[in-house]
Amino acid sequence: MKKILCNVILFIIFMPGWLTSDVIMKVSVLGIFKPVRVIVSTEKKEKYTIQAIWGETMEVNGKKQKEFILKDPQPLTVEIPDKITRQFPGQLQIYCSEGKLIIVNHIPMEDYLASVVHCEIGAAPAETLKAQAILCRTKALEFYQRNKKRKYYISDLTDGQVYKGLSHMNLSAREAVNLTRDEVMSFKGKLATVFFCSTCAGETSYPGFVWKKEIEYIVPVKCEYKGTPLCIDSPHFKTWTWSCPLEQISRVIPMGKFDHIDIIERDEFGRVSLLRFRNTWNMVLKTETFRIMVGRYFKDWGLLKSARFKVEIKDRKAFFTGQGLGHGVGLCQWGAKKLGELGYKYRSILGFYFPRLMITDYYSLKNEDE
Ligand SMILES: [Zn+2]
Repeated sequence: MKKILCNVILFIIFMPGWLTSDVIMKVSVLGIFKPVRVIVSTEKKEKYTIQAIWGETMEVNGKKQKEFILKDPQPLTVEIPDKITRQFPGQLQIYCSEGKLIIVNHIPMEDYLASVVHCEIGAAPAETLKAQAILCRTKALEFYQRNKKRKYYISDLTDGQVYKGLSHMNLSAREAVNLTRDEVMSFKGKLATVFFCSTCAGETSYPGFVWKKEIEYIVPVKCEYKGTPLCIDSPHFKTWTWSCPLEQISRVIPMGKFDHIDIIERDEFGRVSLLRFRNTWNMVLKTETFRIMVGRYFKDWGLLKSARFKVEIKDRKAFFTGQGLGHGVGLCQWGAKKLGELGYKYRSILGFYFPRLMITDYYSLKNEDE
């Protein structure tokens, strides 16, 4: 009887498939390069050249193949000739779609997070890293729940989470992941949607303002300690400027020539949510949409750094002057670093930026995959 009870307890503790560490993430990697030729090699120097032909057709070492799957206990090296070489642990799956190769890395959740946490925040105090680990895990599981019937759940870009494989798996990030195993952010017993950004510049914003999408539990907070902004040490806190000829902006946004940029909506903190590009006709854009368009067009996310700006037009050139980096919603990473330095524990750091959320074990939530 005692033995049976013991086994039941052990089964509950190690309940298969319920722990986040059991989740295998499927991450689309290097898609930004739109690869048509990829060379995959193993530690034992086995080499596979994968070439997209057209549509869904591709060749592996000169032979037509629908899909390429490779698993090796050692990390696999992926090379996109003349562009990039990166190493990935776990399994690689490569297939062809619309003449481009899609590279998917299947990787255990905790290994994935050990890279993502470092890619997203870099060096930070241990407690700040733990807070970041919980946010990255929460976000990863949200994508997993939403896309688990698809070939991959999340991309390695900013619309997912930045992931650069093995080279960015850092020891302190891994420790933060291990020490917060299975912990996620929740609201009313469900996995929460969470956000983080580099530098809010004094006060965070909320989804209803930035994206016109209400999420009741993400609220603005003053990112300050004893009257001083917590993120004041960030290199992005000081004023930045970006100037660009109007002709060039009219190529970034899908409209012809325009003469004016109007700010339609600005919060009391100076953050702009809607812009109007005006000529004889108007185009209204969310600032965040415009920021993404600028980032993609110039392949540079450090130009229009945040939505907290003023804009002036002189001699058919727009001059943006602002503060901060990122959308400004959720946890401010530079603020969280400062809280970590001040001795705050990860629970307090998360509680500071997400006062309406709880930290919960993932397997105790009402998850959609049950
Ligand atoms: Zn801040």
